[in-house]
Amino acid sequence: MNKADQHCANVAEPAETVEGPRSRQWADRYDHVHMQVFGRPGRVMDHGQGAWIWDIDGNRYLDMLAGIAVNALGYAHPAWNRALAQQAGKMAHISNFFASRPQIELAERLLELAQAPDGSRVFFCNSGTEANEAAIKLARLHGTRMGGNPGRILALTHSFHGRSMGSLSLTWKPAIREPFQPLVPGMGFLPSGDPEALEEAFSGEEASDQPVAAVILELIQGEAGVLPLEPDYVQKVRELCSRHGALMILDEVQTGMGRTGHWFAFQDQSLSGGACPDVLTFAKGVAGGFPMGGMITFGSGPSGLLTPGTHGSTFGGNPLGSALALTTLETIQREGLLERAEQMGKRLRDGIAACGNPLFTSVRGRGLLDAVQLRSPCAGKVAAWCLDHGLIVNPVAPDALRLAPPLIIQADQIDLAVDILSKVPTRL
Ligand code: PLP
Repeated sequence: MNKADQHCANVAEPAETVEGPRSRQWADRYDHVHMQVFGRPGRVMDHGQGAWIWDIDGNRYLDMLAGIAVNALGYAHPAWNRALAQQAGKMAHISNFFASRPQIELAERLLELAQAPDGSRVFFCNSGTEANEAAIKLARLHGTRMGGNPGRILALTHSFHGRSMGSLSLTWKPAIREPFQPLVPGMGFLPSGDPEALEEAFSGEEASDQPVAAVILELIQGEAGVLPLEPDYVQKVRELCSRHGALMILDEVQTGMGRTGHWFAFQDQSLSGGACPDVLTFAKGVAGGFPMGGMITFGSGPSGLLTPGTHGSTFGGNPLGSALALTTLETIQREGLLERAEQMGKRLRDGIAACGNPLFTSVRGRGLLDAVQLRSPCAGKVAAWCLDHGLIVNPVAPDALRLAPPLIIQADQIDLAVDILSKVPTRL
């Protein structure tokens, strides 16, 4: 039994899981051959089971990151593994010259889960960035149809929509956008949560030259530190988009597929105020760890905008990813993981709020997409301390930790995470 295993048996003192020699050696090899966009890996990982993962030195960690809010079913879930073997034994990839049963069933299931009206359609790709890029192209065609020019696509401050040229042009963080000037034209930002600026964008002088074709938003801004929008503001976006014929695009890449305790965050009144999107993008958790993304267009209006030849994807909707997504969604349903996300999220937030660590000033989120606000910008150091004590948390902002574990996480694992967090020293 390694030190982290012993810790599970006795939660009194967080056990140490320091970087071992094999991890160090492989991290050096990583460094030697990878571009420096992510920095040196914290540990080199080997395998996982449920919400646990092990590094190549045998240290065990409780995973509150889940591959950045992806691994809904945790690691090596038997249903997921079975679906993988079954579909891989039949056919992994076929391209969009053909279709497969899993792809068709998955599109039907997603429309059902999104309660999308007749005429709604699905487009499949492989990531959140690609999903948003598809939505951007669709919005430009919509703008052209509305006013003879592509119009403007507006995102909110603190947004994150991806790192391709279109999606990064709508991503707020300067480090992501600024090196790539000039950005895609016709893109802009609205101050998040400000209804007057929203009115002005639709009715001001600029709107007569270049009308708003679309507004894209995340109901919880995950990469900015898990910041939920106010439902009144979301309703206002909906109302103005409808009044001016613009598309409301919800980026549910991080919030979708059960993470917030609902299939989609817009189905949570406390986030959306009941507003439904025209277009919704998804990715991350949909296939439980296999790369997949896509876009749902609601109703027949936006569904007809992308016509043959205007967009595509070699791997989008491939049978393997589709079968894994079907299994992931089926398992979320069968194991009651939406309810579990709500219950475990509440247990986590309540536990942290009551743990008495003076480093933490507040905790927020929905379901299992949560964040702890820190008294000072020490998130990197706190995450490093947690890693050394068998807990993976994500320093999503200089002063905030994101907690987004697998949806299958158990109550005693939540308690263990709270216990370790309660022991983070105030001076690091
Ligand atoms: N949109 C949101 C809201 C995200 O959180 C992310 C990734 O974190 C993306 C888009 C980009 O997704 P991907 O990394 O799969 O391209």
